[in-house]
Amino acid sequence: MSDWQKELAIYTKNLNKASQDENLTRALTRAVKSYRQNVDTALCQYPHTPNLAEEVRAIKEYSMAHNKELLEKAMQAIESNHGHAFYAEDRQAALQIVKDIVGKGKIIVKGKSMLGEELGLREALQEEGNEVWETDLGEFILQLKKDRPMHILAPSIHVPREQVAEIFSKFFQKEIPADITEEVSVVRDFLREKYFTADVGISGANVVAADTGQIVIIENEGNVRLCTGVPPVHIAIVGIEKLVPTFQDAMKVAEVTWRYANYGAPGYVNIISGPSKTGDIEKVITYGAHGPKEFYVIFVNNGRSAMLGDENYRQALHCLRCGGCMYECPVFQITAGHYGRTYLSGIGSVWTAFIEGKESAAPMLYTCLRCGRCVERCPMKINVPDMVGRLRSEVVSD
Ligand code: SF4
Repeated sequence: MSDWQKELAIYTKNLNKASQDENLTRALTRAVKSYRQNVDTALCQYPHTPNLAEEVRAIKEYSMAHNKELLEKAMQAIESNHGHAFYAEDRQAALQIVKDIVGKGKIIVKGKSMLGEELGLREALQEEGNEVWETDLGEFILQLKKDRPMHILAPSIHVPREQVAEIFSKFFQKEIPADITEEVSVVRDFLREKYFTADVGISGANVVAADTGQIVIIENEGNVRLCTGVPPVHIAIVGIEKLVPTFQDAMKVAEVTWRYANYGAPGYVNIISGPSKTGDIEKVITYGAHGPKEFYVIFVNNGRSAMLGDENYRQALHCLRCGGCMYECPVFQITAGHYGRTYLSGIGSVWTAFIEGKESAAPMLYTCLRCGRCVERCPMKINVPDMVGRLRSEVVSD
């Protein structure tokens, strides 16, 4: 059996096993119901959202067509804000830049980032002898469980409170009851100390304004605020598809993202332009006030320009990672992230084809039912079934 056949056998086995897992079905049924209710309520409360989504589609189309020039502009703006901007062509280059900034033997607190998962960032930094902590609660659970995310927004959707209690009791070496408030509280206490002793904070970004160089990060837990505001160094890793022309465009993208990601209004929207600074003494601007002294943004390509260059697949880069399509996908509803690798479900199969190669994406491409329910939900109206059909023909003819 070739490596590819072995991988396919494992994928199929996991998919079948997941579809018969009653806990998973229960968790997903509840999640789907609450997602639909929350988004319906939010769309009634903020009825301008579908029109705004249309505007965002136009912004994304423009941004993809002008990606190179937006990248240059954003990098210049970040430098003029006293940050440092880098461009990484691929995974290896991106990891090398982060490693060079971080060094060895450091404490790192990290916010949730799909690009971080794509790059294997935590593992790469740990291999350099660094202590790295995921600070998103779901990601923290998965870090301890040595598991991977099963949803892009709710990574530990498959882990019930009883299992969380077991994992935490083992890690914290004391009895933690299967009580969600207590579980949250014990992580809060543990990570609080890490934020204030960390050398470096790492985050992703939901969108970047090229004109001002500002990065925007949406969150609810407050962990990103601490990761990006407390340690002396902040590194943001960003896919080049996140660039839009102006700050106003970025705000539109952010609002549509959080609305379709289940929120009327998220807990926090972080907007970061550069290192912290003060001019309070004699109006002399000094960098490194209360927040980070150093700010780095690394723009990562890693297969995105191939998507950008192909008109059949360019629309996949419009994805806001709101996760809405996954809740509508009939396969994802019973298998969760087992229908995926780093990127999940139908849209994830297209991303996988470009990030990891068509061979890796093939099992996912043939899992898709091409029913089109994802397109109905998607604020960007990304035609996943069409792209999956095209990629299937390419996989067969290659
Ligand atoms: S494909 Fe559409 S619905 Fe799915 S995560 Fe991306 S933007 Fe959201």
